[in-house]
Amino acid sequence: MGITVTQIYWVRKAFDLKENQFNRDVKSALGNVADRIYEINKTISPSTSPVEQLTTNYFVVLVNGPVNANLLDVLVGSEFEKRNITANYEVGVYDCETQCMNATDFNLHKKNKATASLVEMPTWKDDGYYFGVQFSSIEANLIGQMGIWVYSSVVMLIVIFFFVYTLLVILRQKRLSEIQKDFINNMTHEFKTPLSTIAISSEVLKDVNIVQTPERLLNYATIIQTESHRLKQHVERVLQYARLEKSDVGLKKEKLDVHNLIHEAVQNSSVQLQERNGKITLLLEATEKIISADRLHFTNVLFNLIDNAIKYSDSPPHLIIKTKNHDSRILIEVQDNGIGISSDNLKKIFNQFYRVPTGNLHDVKGFGLGLNYVKTMVELHKGKIEVESKPSVGSVFKITLPIE
Ligand code: ADP
Repeated sequence: MGITVTQIYWVRKAFDLKENQFNRDVKSALGNVADRIYEINKTISPSTSPVEQLTTNYFVVLVNGPVNANLLDVLVGSEFEKRNITANYEVGVYDCETQCMNATDFNLHKKNKATASLVEMPTWKDDGYYFGVQFSSIEANLIGQMGIWVYSSVVMLIVIFFFVYTLLVILRQKRLSEIQKDFINNMTHEFKTPLSTIAISSEVLKDVNIVQTPERLLNYATIIQTESHRLKQHVERVLQYARLEKSDVGLKKEKLDVHNLIHEAVQNSSVQLQERNGKITLLLEATEKIISADRLHFTNVLFNLIDNAIKYSDSPPHLIIKTKNHDSRILIEVQDNGIGISSDNLKKIFNQFYRVPTGNLHDVKGFGLGLNYVKTMVELHKGKIEVESKPSVGSVFKITLPIE
């Protein structure tokens, strides 16, 4: 901004200088014309300057006798040429006997309607002879002569543009690297916990006396099984994401019954549901329920939504899964009574690695990839996903898909 303001200041200054120079040139040219007219009329020229500038583009010159308009035109033209004044102008002679102005070039005003023609200008002096010169578009003419300034301003704008662009890229990179760091921290944490549990359990199993207490043996074997299952799930999620990144998802679409897919996903999440004493109510009302989808990915989508609904709830989760038909589309709603999402976070939850900040608390496991996967998959199935949520009331995820 500082550079822009400085540049504007200097351009303005250069323009003012050019304008002053122009006015000075015009005044001196018109002064010379007046001298010539005094000479032709054989009268003594006045001691003060006969030229006066009435507005930025209107100059009047006092003479003391009638002037031939054609002669005036030639004189003014040659003086302007000498001084390299190239702006368009109109010359008019005021005749105090007829009290009217005769202008030579009316065409100028057809081109430039912004200024009134000289003949329409208010009279400067009723009781004397004078002639007036009016310029059109002085600004455009002067700007045309300021090539170097226009060039430097354009260069500066380009430099500023790249500077801002670079800053934005740096900020984006910084955010990405923070996200990546968070992801790695998060992942290490998620993998470390089941691994240490497995390590401790196997330590216990190494005890030779454990065979004498088969319940303990079974207990520790179950722990190892559950934790390795959890690890497998983590790996599966990261892989899901890696596959998406490489964009070789390779959907194998087939005609599938949405209700069957929902039953399958509910089945897959039954362990998590039992752990949390939750329940799922199914209100499957859609009659047209065949979609073209990839079985594995679409069950994953539903599973991710159900899994989140179970994970992000303080009380025992109660999920309602609904389906409805609407305009040759099917609507699938996954509603929960969980912790909900604030409106600021709602916009970002579909972003890669985004997790609603909970301070340093890792009470709910995840990588922030689930919803990103869900959104990408729904879009690959030509569908749409929307979410409504109220903190501490619950959330509803709505998927709309075309029916086969
Ligand atoms: P994560 O692996 O963290 O679960 P997701 O992409 O599935 O990643 O979810 C992103 C974030 O959105 C979560 O960290 C969570 O804060 C929030 N979220 C997702 N689903 C729900 C839900 N049903 N209720 C409340 N918050 C949710």
